[in-house]
Amino acid sequence: MKIRSRKFNGRCAKHKSYNPAVDGAGAIRGNCARCVLLFEIWEASLTLNRLIRKFDPAYDDVQRPNPSVPAHDPRQMSLIAE
Ligand SMILES: [Zn+2]
Repeated sequence: MKIRSRKFNGRCAKHKSYNPAVDGAGAIRGNCARCVLLFEIWEASLTLNRLIRKFDPAYDDVQRPNPSVPAHDPRQMSLIAE
């Protein structure tokens, strides 16, 4: 899977100074739809970064069981018993 990183320079035409990263959801004036959308895009980008960090291959390797250790095979036990 490939995700192209992109710069997004969206800005509300009515509230040109609104910056969701700095101002947060509380600074949106009059529940402006464009500003709300900017904030949601900002939030989604944070979520995406968090998910990618969570999927970090190094983290996955730590969690993976060691394949060089053979699993217990009950058939070997029955051979010894006979
Ligand atoms: Zn706005």
